[in-house]
Amino acid sequence: MAPHPDTPSSSDWTRTRLSALNAQFEPQSPQVVLDWATTTFGEQLVQGTGFGPSGIVIMHMLSEVCPGATVFYLDTDLLFPETYELRDELEETMDVTITRVHGDLSLDAQAEAEGPALWNRDPDRCCFLRKVRPLQNYLDDRRAWVTGVRRDQSPARADAPILKWESAYQVLKVNPLATWTRKQVWQYLFDHDLPYNPKHDQGYPSLGCVPCTAPVEDADGYTREGRWANSDKTECGLHATTGEE
Ligand code: SF4
Repeated sequence: MAPHPDTPSSSDWTRTRLSALNAQFEPQSPQVVLDWATTTFGEQLVQGTGFGPSGIVIMHMLSEVCPGATVFYLDTDLLFPETYELRDELEETMDVTITRVHGDLSLDAQAEAEGPALWNRDPDRCCFLRKVRPLQNYLDDRRAWVTGVRRDQSPARADAPILKWESAYQVLKVNPLATWTRKQVWQYLFDHDLPYNPKHDQGYPSLGCVPCTAPVEDADGYTREGRWANSDKTECGLHATTGEE
């Protein structure tokens, strides 16, 4: 697909400009960041979420800052039934437009081409086929991608900036909750009486695909524990350096 005529390149988001904006936004609220982002990018800004707590908080803020804003999720066909139910509830109650992004590769077609249960044998390849490639295609004509990445989620995310040029997708990544803690996120959810995935009350701090998500005992505070618990893999490859919450 041809690039959008207004699509900025990395040269539009120089290190100096991003550093200045990040310094400006560091002490500001997530709503200030979202207000700037929606004003700057309009309909070319989209929020990506897996309907985790951070994503729901951002969705709620976005619905107030920019009613009707586009929120997308990557449907791998392998999400928990509770996640699909939560999506339906959020669709009914939040003033945002929820969009399903799917790679058009059915589980049967994947098994035929790659063998059964690819997630057990080569999770990077499975994540590429079911998440990364569909995301690349979807973001192709978008300019900004809002994510739920927070610094306290994992060591790999500890340095996540609020704004970051994502060369892999040619978009500006916006992490409005980068400076927030898990406690702040849950406080916001409770203060605004927002729904959340009931699996979080059953020992699942972070929810992805059913085959790659396990409950966690004695979590040490990092909210992405329990994802790909039996391998070294810690990220699905969506976030080139440091994300989907
Ligand atoms: S999280 Fe697991 S099942 Fe989901 S796309 Fe990645 S490897 Fe496949």
